[in-house]
Amino acid sequence: MALFTNTTFDSFEHLFLDQLQDIYDAEQRLAKALPRMAEAADDPRLKTALRDHLTETERQLKSLDELFECVDQKPKAKTCEAMKGLISEAEQLADAKGDENIRDAAIIAAAQRIDHYEMAAYGTARNFARRLGHDDVAKSLQRCLDEEKAADFRLTELAEQSINPKAAHPVST
Ligand code: FE
Ligand code: FE
Repeated sequence: MALFTNTTFDSFEHLFLDQLQDIYDAEQRLAKALPRMAEAADDPRLKTALRDHLTETERQLKSLDELFECVDQKPKAKTCEAMKGLISEAEQLADAKGDENIRDAAIIAAAQRIDHYEMAAYGTARNFARRLGHDDVAKSLQRCLDEEKAADFRLTELAEQSINPKAAHPVST
């Protein structure tokens, strides 16, 4: 854990770029982790939801490339320690042995923590972009936020309507 930092903020724009670089790194890490999570999932609908989120993540990375260009910056990633940790937790749960419905419930739990981190990141970045007058960038960040919210909602529905009930009452022994 870094107690000291080399970061010096000299403008709000600088903080905004720092946030974009963090999201860029987070999405890159997630794009690498999602295929493994989808493979570990047992329920075909969960597999599909995770694979769809991979497609969205790849699209979001392209939007981020464009966002950097919009503000005259080269796309740059700054290590997102939070996403590293969230993915490490997700991988531990995805590798767990035992009942497949319980493991699916665990994968959803991890995926939703990831979604919520992304929602917080995009929401803040959108507000910063608006404040700085980058209106088109703000719109694009809002689209990413909407996608994360929809992905999160889909996982809640899948968990509550199907996977959690099966996880709570395993049929086989
Ligand atoms: Fe994302
Ligand atoms: Fe981060």
